[in-house]
Amino acid sequence: MGSRRDFFSFKKTPSVINLPYIKGSIDVCTECRGYCVNACEESIIFKKEGEIPYLDFKNKGCIFCKKCAFVCEEKGKAVLNSLMENIIEGKAKIDVSLCLSYHQVICLSCQDVCKTSIKFSGMFYPEILNTCTACGLCVSICPQGAISIVESQKGK
Ligand code: SF4
Ligand code: SF4
Ligand code: SF4
Repeated sequence: MGSRRDFFSFKKTPSVINLPYIKGSIDVCTECRGYCVNACEESIIFKKEGEIPYLDFKNKGCIFCKKCAFVCEEKGKAVLNSLMENIIEGKAKIDVSLCLSYHQVICLSCQDVCKTSIKFSGMFYPEILNTCTACGLCVSICPQGAISIVESQKGK
C-alpha cells in the first residue's frame, strides 16, 4: 500500500493539464487558431479563443500519436516538438475513498488499460507508480471516477 507521504505528495488538481511535447513558449498559443484541437483523433484537446490549449481526459486518454506536435510544427508555431518525450506533466492519483478496490470490491479496470504504472497488491489496493506518464487512459475507465491527473511536485 502507499505510504502517507505518497498520498500527500500532490498539489491541488489543476484546472489545466498541458499538452505533451511542449518545448517552446505555450503563451504563443493564445494567438493560435488551435490546429492541434482538430489534429487530435482522440478529441482530448480543447482550446478557447485567446487561451492556451489543454487536455481533458473525461472521455479518452492520450495515445502519444504526436499528431498535435506534427501539426504545430507544420504551421510553424514551434510550441510543440515531436522529438520531445512521450510524457504529460502530472501524475495519476487514486482517491482511495472512491476506489472499489480499497473497499474490498474486486475491480481491475484501471490495470486493464495500464499494465506498467498501476500496481495492485494481490487483487486490491492499486497504487500509481513513478513510471506514470499522465496519459489519462485510466481516468475515464474507472467506474467510480476515482482517478484524476494532478500536478506532481518537483522531484516526485
Ligand atoms: S499525442 Fe495524439 S492523442 Fe495525445 S494529445 Fe496529441 S494528438 Fe491527442
Ligand atoms: S478502476 Fe477505479 S475503482 Fe477500479 S481499482 Fe482502479 S481506481 Fe479503483
Ligand atoms: S496510471 Fe497508467 S493509464 Fe493512468 S495516467 Fe498513468 S500511465 Fe496513464
